Amino acid sequence: MFNNKAYNILTLSILLLLLSACNSSNNTTEVIVEEEPGDSTTENEQEDQTQTEDEQPQEEPEVEEEEEIVLPTDELQKGDQGDHVQTLQEALAIVGYEISISGTYNLETVWAITDLQMQSEDVFVTGIYDDATKLVLENYLKEEVTISPGEGLPLTDDKYLDDETVVIGNPYEVLALINKQHALPVDYKPSDMVVPDVRFPFVEDLPKKQMRKVAAEALTKMFADADLESLDLFAQSGYRSYETQDYLFASYVSNHGEEQANTFSARPGESEHQSGLTMDVTSPHVNYSLVTDFGETEEGIWLHEHAAEYGFIIRYPKGKEDITGYQYEPWHLRYVGVKAATTIMERGITLEEYLEEILSE
Ligand SMILES: [Zn+2]
Repeated sequence: MFNNKAYNILTLSILLLLLSACNSSNNTTEVIVEEEPGDSTTENEQEDQTQTEDEQPQEEPEVEEEEEIVLPTDELQKGDQGDHVQTLQEALAIVGYEISISGTYNLETVWAITDLQMQSEDVFVTGIYDDATKLVLENYLKEEVTISPGEGLPLTDDKYLDDETVVIGNPYEVLALINKQHALPVDYKPSDMVVPDVRFPFVEDLPKKQMRKVAAEALTKMFADADLESLDLFAQSGYRSYETQDYLFASYVSNHGEEQANTFSARPGESEHQSGLTMDVTSPHVNYSLVTDFGETEEGIWLHEHAAEYGFIIRYPKGKEDITGYQYEPWHLRYVGVKAATTIMERGITLEEYLEEILSE
């Protein structure tokens, strides 16, 4: 128990103690403040410094966005959606492509990637964003090389040829749909064709040995792996020009009539063989011919199970004649890339169904 007087004295003492504590801390602060400038910096200069420091944080993010955009590491292709696609589109816009930043890998994005690939060495032209394309785009972002959008592949819309047929604008993308309703441009001859390192049942150096680089490399790898399984695969027919198809179709029509010819042959422009992404394959077990029995040979069965691992599909499967417009052709391989091929072959669907699904999502 304190009496009033004792209480007052105690309160006063505490106040004095607190005051002296405050003073001493003020003193310390003052000393630091006085020491810190330590040189001849005037007040104005200090203000200038402060302004510069204030401005920096506003500038920095802009600079970072342009120079340090982090490109996606996953493979992206037509129909893909999301933040990674948006980042890719932002990067393409920075290097000069006037495309919409929609977050959807649409035809415009496919074109920009195809064009970018066509202006770059050591990268396959596919329209698909992959590791090699990432490196190329990184170089453009660093401005080590400059790009002229459209110089590799002019931006061209799909155009109606007649009521039933569209001429596709980007014949170079490996997910291009070519069928009785979607034709290649008359003058399309792929600029990146080579002869795959595989067996052919003939020795002549014919144009039909050729395929586009990306498909030729995949075919070579597939044949090498099939060899390890003691299989006897032969390549029969790859690239076919518009003119050759024109001649072939005309001769089929004169022999079988147009309706019949349509079920097994393509009209000029509508053959996948003109794309350079296709190879008809066969084996000695069917006398190197292109017949449905090939599907029952060891080679045919192995292809059905493994072609997708190399990016190929059996383009005209059994039971899908209504969709593809063609009878079953176990020998006709079409390159579409591993991602699409895996889905198509695992699910037993056609390229038509696959594209409709990924483009309608
Ligand atoms: Zn074929």
